[in-house]
Amino acid sequence: MDGTTTQTAAPVLILLGPPGAGKGTQARMLEETFGLVQLSTGDLLRDAVAQGTEAGQQAKAVMEAGQLVSDDIVIAILRDRLAQPDCARGVILDGFPRTAGQAEALDALLAENGQKINAAISLDVDDAAMVTRISGRYTCAACGEGYHDSFKTPAAEGRCDKCDSTEFKRRADDNAETVAARLDAYHEQTAPLIDYYAAQAALMRINAMGQIDEIANKMGAIVKAATR
Ligand code: ADP
Ligand code: ZN
Repeated sequence: MDGTTTQTAAPVLILLGPPGAGKGTQARMLEETFGLVQLSTGDLLRDAVAQGTEAGQQAKAVMEAGQLVSDDIVIAILRDRLAQPDCARGVILDGFPRTAGQAEALDALLAENGQKINAAISLDVDDAAMVTRISGRYTCAACGEGYHDSFKTPAAEGRCDKCDSTEFKRRADDNAETVAARLDAYHEQTAPLIDYYAAQAALMRINAMGQIDEIANKMGAIVKAATR
């Protein structure tokens, strides 16, 4: 090491894509493979709702209607989480940013810490398939592993592959009506971020309609190249 070596900033990856595209599933796999921390604003908000914090009380009805929680609330929650020590390993943002305001706030926040986005990966899917994907999904109540009634059932019925728990849960907003509103919100407010990151030369796109493992392999290659 010589005195001129600059410290390598922790990687920052963004996953873009409509609800049901598989951002959470892929983020969890990347977390295991690369030792990065998955930051899901959806999970952080659901925790805030469960704990009944002020932010959670404001977010609850908005989330149940399938609309976006205000930038102020989400940015504050994300900023607090990013400041925690484990995030120094690098992060995968799953579900954030979702608006232009959030994207700009993130750039400013990272710049303060001398960091920048390594890659924004867009998971490209057919909208029509998303309703089926979301309506059938559930997670392990203990470890959060994701499952699906048709596409990914536990190897032993009723028992989580990862942690053996027999308790599972479904999200309150994973129903057909709310999914339609969530898809609309994605197209109106989040899809424009694809151009935003293309303009920063950070955008990578992958076809996310295939098998989970196949997509994970493509993601892994992108992340490897982007964090080198
Ligand atoms: P999905 O991507 O499957 O819709 P999430 O768990 O990411 O699920 O988000 C669930 C809900 O939480 C969203 O519909 C929205 O109400 C709220 N939410 C999550 N992230 C954000 C965000 N970055 N900005 C605004 N609202 C958000
Ligand atoms: Zn489990």
